[in-house]
Amino acid sequence: MTLLTFRFAPSPNGELHLGHAYSALLNRQMAARAGGRLLLRIEDIDITRCTPEFEAGIFRDLEWLGFEWEEPVRRQSEHFSEYRAVLDRLIAEELVYPAFMSRGEIRAFIAETEKRGRDWPRDPDGVPRYPPLDKALPTKERRRRIAENKPFAWRLDIEAAMARVPGALSWVEFTDETMAATHTVDATPQAWGDVIVARRDIPTSYHLAVVVDDALQGVSHVVRGQDLYAATSVQRLLQDLLGRPAPRYLHHRLILGSDGRKLSKSFKDTGLAALRQAGVSPQDVVRLIGL
Ligand code: GLU
Repeated sequence: MTLLTFRFAPSPNGELHLGHAYSALLNRQMAARAGGRLLLRIEDIDITRCTPEFEAGIFRDLEWLGFEWEEPVRRQSEHFSEYRAVLDRLIAEELVYPAFMSRGEIRAFIAETEKRGRDWPRDPDGVPRYPPLDKALPTKERRRRIAENKPFAWRLDIEAAMARVPGALSWVEFTDETMAATHTVDATPQAWGDVIVARRDIPTSYHLAVVVDDALQGVSHVVRGQDLYAATSVQRLLQDLLGRPAPRYLHHRLILGSDGRKLSKSFKDTGLAALRQAGVSPQDVVRLIGL
């Protein structure tokens, strides 16, 4: 029998809060009940926002909470060459294209279009979809811009990608943390338009690194917040394009602040370090998050 494998994958770009505690401890609980493995992955591809101090804070907070993870911990920033190799494959298969437009240019294009009375489509995060101009650039023009060192990101050609995957795209979602029942969710990656697969400064994006790592680490069960539900569509598509297996998913409820809004890394009062300093115990945290 193969062991079920769970993972908690925080980004060290801020302090952990009660929402992270819920996600980490739910993963621990589900792994323990299933007799499965529990991994910790540090998602620090954003080298400008992630810091060693925040990473040290994550380890401190997780130890305090009693989250027990397997060594070694995978730190994404140490694996850029692996993501690069996968990106090269997508480039060779013409599933991605260089996207040159700056934020200002995108804004101007959309403002111009909307002035003519047409609402520009937004992605599930509410961000305007990438305009189709760069996708239509002739190869010669692409080469010229690259030779001129014009900065660019790699974006997925969503139409080409959808045409490449045969049949319907879906994933298996658990109904709750008991894993007693599942349902099938249709993936709708088109809603995102041409997503970024590699940013200007690094050879990957959140989606690409997650897909590569979940497969590489044999993650069978992805348990993460409801806020990433729509992102799963993109990740399912990348898994199919790259021939990676699809894990099963549970997108759990979010812990909300007293104002009813999603917690953010800047809400000091729900930060785990601040709670600890105020004398709150790990048992109190478990009660606070209702686990
Ligand atoms: N690193 C992501 C975050 O901190 C989580 C990614 C995932 O669980 O797939 O929001």
